[in-house]
Amino acid sequence: MRYQVLRPPYCYRWAVLISVVLVTVSLILSLSWSGAEGTPGAPQPAPQPAPEQPAGTAAPAGTAAPPGPRAPVRTTARSGRFVALTFDDGPDPGYTPQILDLLAQHGAVATFCMVGTQVRRHPELVRQVLGHGMRLCDHTADHDEQLARRDEARMSADITGARTDLRLAAGSDVPVPYFRAPGGNWSDTITALAVRAGMTPLGWSVDSRDWTLPGVPAIVAGVRQAVRPGAVILFHDGGGRRAQTVAALAELLPWLTAQGYQFDFPAT
Ligand SMILES: [Zn+2]
Repeated sequence: MRYQVLRPPYCYRWAVLISVVLVTVSLILSLSWSGAEGTPGAPQPAPQPAPEQPAGTAAPAGTAAPPGPRAPVRTTARSGRFVALTFDDGPDPGYTPQILDLLAQHGAVATFCMVGTQVRRHPELVRQVLGHGMRLCDHTADHDEQLARRDEARMSADITGARTDLRLAAGSDVPVPYFRAPGGNWSDTITALAVRAGMTPLGWSVDSRDWTLPGVPAIVAGVRQAVRPGAVILFHDGGGRRAQTVAALAELLPWLTAQGYQFDFPAT
């Protein structure tokens, strides 16, 4: 039969193939064992434990929400054509009153994320902000952008530190509904501690990038391009020269109104 004729050469080839595979496998196994033994302490590429969430991976504004017990809020309280303006790193005697005046002129509300050290220097500005119908946000005792790398006791003290200063400035019953991490550098522990302290972690969805001092036209154009219904917009009234922020706001407030936007607070 044809099969019988063909079988011997095929059997031979299979035997050779299987032998080659067996030799190769045993060679690979022996090489990998000797390699592991020969380099004690060498970093093993494969089974790495999952790294802890690094502290401040300085996620750019408005991008991926960090995982955690509660992701920071990035939308307005009401749905519809609303925006929430937020001002960080104040209060500042040069800029905060100017911003309050502009907001009042346009019937706008905003949330001010204040730093404890600034609150202690200018407690009267906290009362002024509240008197204009604005909301307060705790932005830590002294704006440590590496907060997520500190131990929990330090984190806790920093997180509630600004709120304590706000209460000293404006009364023990002053509402501080929000907390924002310095630099937007969140960690699970920070969000959990803020929630435990009764504050809503507050992120943003639009970064005006006013802190880079790009010039008024760039700030205005950036916000115009990025704003959407429900946006939480990040500005700064402290922490540096903020004349560009004030000038940009003077253009943006009437523009937002003309676009049909109303002003709201962030969701809680
Ligand atoms: Zn800040």
